[in-house]
Amino acid sequence: MARVVIVGAGISGLAAALEASLARHEVVVLEGSPQVGGKLRLATVAGHQVDVGAESMLARRPEGLDLLADLDVEPVHPAAVSAALWTRGALQPMPRGTLLGVPGDPSSLGSLLTADELQRLRDERSVPAADDLSIGELVETAMGSAVVDRLVEPLLGGVYAGHARRLSAAVTAPALLSAARQRRLLSEAARAAAARATSGTPVFAGLRGGLGSMPKHLVRLLLDRGVTVRTGATVRAVARTSTGWQVTIGETRAPETLDADGLVIATPARATARLLAPHAPEAAAVLADIDYASMAIVTYAFRSAESRAFAGSSGFLVPPIDERGIKASTFSSSKWPWLAEAAPELTFARVSIGRQGEEASLQRSDAELAAVGIRDLRSALGGDAVPRPVAAHVQRWGGALPQYAVGHVDRIAAVRAALAELPGVEVAGAAYDGVGIPACIGTGRRAAERVLTLLADR
Ligand SMILES: Cc1cc2nc3c(=O)[nH]c(=O)nc-3n(C[C@H](O)[C@H](O)[C@H](O)COP(=O)(O)OP(=O)(O)OC[C@H]3O[C@@H](n4cnc5c(N)ncnc54)[C@H](O)[C@@H]3O)c2cc1C
Repeated sequence: MARVVIVGAGISGLAAALEASLARHEVVVLEGSPQVGGKLRLATVAGHQVDVGAESMLARRPEGLDLLADLDVEPVHPAAVSAALWTRGALQPMPRGTLLGVPGDPSSLGSLLTADELQRLRDERSVPAADDLSIGELVETAMGSAVVDRLVEPLLGGVYAGHARRLSAAVTAPALLSAARQRRLLSEAARAAAARATSGTPVFAGLRGGLGSMPKHLVRLLLDRGVTVRTGATVRAVARTSTGWQVTIGETRAPETLDADGLVIATPARATARLLAPHAPEAAAVLADIDYASMAIVTYAFRSAESRAFAGSSGFLVPPIDERGIKASTFSSSKWPWLAEAAPELTFARVSIGRQGEEASLQRSDAELAAVGIRDLRSALGGDAVPRPVAAHVQRWGGALPQYAVGHVDRIAAVRAALAELPGVEVAGAAYDGVGIPACIGTGRRAAERVLTLLADR
């Protein structure tokens, strides 16, 4: 029986393990930290388990829902409540019909942009884009800087914790870049996307108990299928052997080795780079160069009787140009009916703090971060509307989200070409084809499929 080793038990590694378990091989998952799940994590806040990492996945892509079906878990969807932008000192309804903040129709933006900014948007230009460029540069050239600062930045901040003027348009908004390449207006592409999107299917999904409970379901199924899942098993090195690969686990003083016929490395880019450096130095250098944004999520529990301000909205995003302390807030109990049902006496809300290159904003104590969130919530919702929380939980995420800089697609293609020279080694994770959970699941499944194909051909 061949052995497939998966390094890293985030959602990418767990998805890879599930795929690998379909064949009759021994499958071993090695996770360095004490728990599986990576950025999918639950914590106990005021006696209830709530998500303190990812909390919602795109339902318009199939991978997340397919995985829930494999796990025999029913998806749940966010309540049909509105989201807002906290911009220029006021909460404004999130404009409809935008594609990553790019509007299809300027007439819906009267309360968000000044008259001059709206005029610049109406004078939209086509952008003769050929190669990749930043999403910020693309939109600014076409529609003016205010659309970038007031609409695109807050949306990108929510997904990538990044900067529009640094992130690759080819990755973050391929439909907009391809419109530009065809000399079509970006607003046309946004309208076309909005028309496709109104099919009535929910945009996002989760599961009862939170997305952070998905790893637990996955591990249960993996164990049922005979997969070994080890935590506290940091992989320090991988080496070639005459028949395949060998991974070294544990302390340098007491190393343990494990032979593998196939290997899926599903760790963040820098960890992957360290493991691959002796075998594919150029690919490793590209991976080591991928910058990561760090952030913190502060989750609050309020008494429901005092928290009406959070009702009827899923939360708000914040344009960084307004220089607030937080970049977004999610009103979790309003957004997720299962949570409101599980804890009716409490109202949960969370804020996120930190973007790429703004690590200084995180160099504060937990109490200070929690106070920043309350201060901003009170400024946005009204001082009296936000009571003292009964609990606050701070989850720091160092190296949270990879930043897809301009040219990312080509660099990753080069990494994959280099790794094709290493038979039996595949990579998966958020650093490659998308940071969202469905994209991560996709990289994990495909990486495992390639390993299985290789083993079947032996
Ligand atoms: C706060 C936050 C909120 C988010 N919200 C959403 C959301 O709502 N929806 C969405 O779609 N996406 C969201 N994302 C993004 C998404 O959660 C991540 O991109 C995704 O979970 C990454 O999964 P992964 O398996 O690729 O990596 P990770 O989750 O980082 O997992 C990698 C694992 O590898 C382990 N590891 C590292 N080095 C080694 C080693 N040498 N040996 C063994 N193990 C090792 C790590 O401990 C970790 O468990 C969010 C991200 C963050 C940080």
